[in-house]
Amino acid sequence: MYTIDLTGKTGLVMGVANQRSLAWAIAQPLVQAGARLAYSYQGERLLPALEKLTAGQDTFLVPCDVTNDDDLDALFETVEARYGRLDYLVHALAFAPQVTFDRPFVEVARDDWRTAMDVSAYSLVAATRRAAPLMRDGGSIVTLSYLAAERVVPHYNMMGVAKAALEASVRYLAYDLGPQGIRVNALSAGPARTIAARSISGFGEMYGEAGRASMLKRNIETDEVGGLGFALLAGQLGGGVTGATIYVDAGFHAIGMFLPDRAE
Ligand code: NAP
Repeated sequence: MYTIDLTGKTGLVMGVANQRSLAWAIAQPLVQAGARLAYSYQGERLLPALEKLTAGQDTFLVPCDVTNDDDLDALFETVEARYGRLDYLVHALAFAPQVTFDRPFVEVARDDWRTAMDVSAYSLVAATRRAAPLMRDGGSIVTLSYLAAERVVPHYNMMGVAKAALEASVRYLAYDLGPQGIRVNALSAGPARTIAARSISGFGEMYGEAGRASMLKRNIETDEVGGLGFALLAGQLGGGVTGATIYVDAGFHAIGMFLPDRAE
């Protein structure tokens, strides 16, 4: 039997808001395989839920607003003090002001552009730069993207542009860190009903359409995102993959035309 034992491995998971979070879906198989994980959260309001969710795990929780360099420094100092090293980083967070989803892209304001880019794309670079020195024996970093990075998806607007920057950042980070044995990849997930998704105008309609139109004729499950995240993080499985954006979207990304007559 082929088994993966991650005993002795450590990871940091950024972006768990609740049990529906994609970050949580990726954390589950890592923990089940024996890895020890720390979690960062943006604000105190999330702490009670996160404490409840992670009860029973050998873990610690650290506040970190990714727009704040002091928070980021403190987060990685804590990780170094507690673990002394790091094997995995899960970056699963994004934000764009609500107005950017509600108004046409052509109207995006400079400050809203900056905010979306800062939280959703630059934060990967900022976190990776701090994680890399702790990845003494190599490591693996996974971030979350979406098809709106490369195609127009109505309402995503500024978030789509930020995801494009995120995917390009993955390639440059993977290039820089490859010689140290550190892999960096993006997982492009199909729509999933999470808190972040709720801010996207018309998300319910898009979720339904993605399920109907995808090759598999269904939406993805978050544990399918978790499974591929696990494969990318665990060196025994994803060791040869870096600089990639891999889709977990039931095949939606590869369809060039949607015809209404395909059998349901
Ligand atoms: P989620 O559960 O709401 O997670 C998003 C997380 O981002 C939350 O924990 C949120 O914290 C955090 N965050 C936002 N701004 C932050 C900041 N300044 N500092 C630190 N953390 C911050 O939603 P999710 O869908 O799992 O999102 C995870 C990732 O998957 C995102 O990059 C998203 O774009 C991507 N993704 C989602 C889907 C989907 O359909 N759900 C599809 C493809 C890709 P707060 O709750 O405190 O704001």
